[in-house]
Amino acid sequence: MTDAARADPTAWLIRSGDLIDGTGAERRKADILIEGERIVSVAPPGSIQIEGAAIVDAAGLVVAPGFIDVHTHDDNAVLVAPDMSAKISQGVTTVVAGNCGISIAPGPLADPPPPLTLIANADPDAFRFERLKDYADAVDAAAPSINIALLIGHSTLRVGAVRDISKKADTTEIDRMRENLAKCLDDGAIGFSTGLYYKTNAPADIDEVVALAELLSDKGGIYVTHMRDEHDHVIDSLHESFETANRADVPIVISHHKCAGPRNWGRSRETLPLIEQTRARMAVALDAYPYAAGSTVLDPDWVDPEIRILVSWSVSHPEMAGRNLADIASAWECSQQDAARRLAPAGGIYFQMDEADVRRILAFPPTMIGSDGLPHDRHPHPRLWGTFPRVLGKYCRQEHLFTLEEAVHKMTGLSAANFGLKDRGVVREGVFADLVLFDADEIIDRATFEEPTRPATGIAQVFVNGKLGWQDGAHTGARSGRFVSRR
Ligand SMILES: [Zn+2]
Repeated sequence: MTDAARADPTAWLIRSGDLIDGTGAERRKADILIEGERIVSVAPPGSIQIEGAAIVDAAGLVVAPGFIDVHTHDDNAVLVAPDMSAKISQGVTTVVAGNCGISIAPGPLADPPPPLTLIANADPDAFRFERLKDYADAVDAAAPSINIALLIGHSTLRVGAVRDISKKADTTEIDRMRENLAKCLDDGAIGFSTGLYYKTNAPADIDEVVALAELLSDKGGIYVTHMRDEHDHVIDSLHESFETANRADVPIVISHHKCAGPRNWGRSRETLPLIEQTRARMAVALDAYPYAAGSTVLDPDWVDPEIRILVSWSVSHPEMAGRNLADIASAWECSQQDAARRLAPAGGIYFQMDEADVRRILAFPPTMIGSDGLPHDRHPHPRLWGTFPRVLGKYCRQEHLFTLEEAVHKMTGLSAANFGLKDRGVVREGVFADLVLFDADEIIDRATFEEPTRPATGIAQVFVNGKLGWQDGAHTGARSGRFVSRR
């Protein structure tokens, strides 16, 4: 590749790559022609003749649809850090935000409680958007380097409409939330999410969730849930999730599926067959990240001395980010719970999963890949920078959990189909030119729990809506992402 990087061409010919098209089909050699923001031709090598297109020699590289990160909290990140290097450096071209019941709209919300603060980047004005449309306009004005689609979160709706969020909503409050959610769906939200595990969402019972989720069956969109319990009651929570989706008559995604806490290690042998059986009668999907540790707010109630907990940020003691809670507790001569209280508000990384469960869940054919990265953490979980190359390098190439075609499908075509992202997630004529070129023998994550922001290697080029956004380990300066609505 030569003059390609210097100019800003409107046509690109990507020659002789190994095309893995995102559908799960076997790779084949192909040339791909991009004109403007779309792919206009996919043809056998040497068969496309065109004058004036920038040429990319992709021999020896895999050419795949840009990866879709289906589980993110990038709502505000695309506005405040629009280069989105953590994502585009991995080959991600579209993120789904608004997960776990937490979305940046609708607002305005003054001083929202945790876990909403996870996406605020300490900005008191973060939840300023009254309509989703206002947020969509702000995204397009910020011009992030990747696309973003948004789910509307139940905690956000509750904080905006429910007088006492420690209680179930009354009928007037449910009507207000329904009205707000309906407007957001009309403005292009791709679905509705809950985070029933969190204090802002937990008081909602199944009737309250159904009253909101059922709007999706008319307007379209998907119901996505961070379940009430991923620990001892994970099976009960799966049943609750299926019943909710069934009563609302909508497809469901189980977020970041896991069996958390040492007592529950190995129980993916129960949960996956249950999901598989349920898929015979209704639309159930799930996502997972490729690590045995999770990350969220550091809550003293969730401290379990049996597992390692790493502090990811702390407002009162920012210098403790990156240190183990147990070490901090022994330095302070107090319990880990007391240490968590003194660090608050803070974030934590919980080593709460079993590697065998992680592998079993990743290998389960319906599982999509989602990072759940927290973009504003001072010492983030390495999933923020490493998820997609780790699936391709560690779990595909080194550990053979799946073929490369299956791995790519889990992060592209399957994701676009489940979330209703039209003309994305596959490579064929007529779709948006979101593409990643990578070296299948080299690709690997480099972010670790000690050094969590090291970019991955093996990603050669990333195109977003027909523009070259990332090349050989660096941003090109093009920022061609946009707000994406449902089909
Ligand atoms: Zn979650």
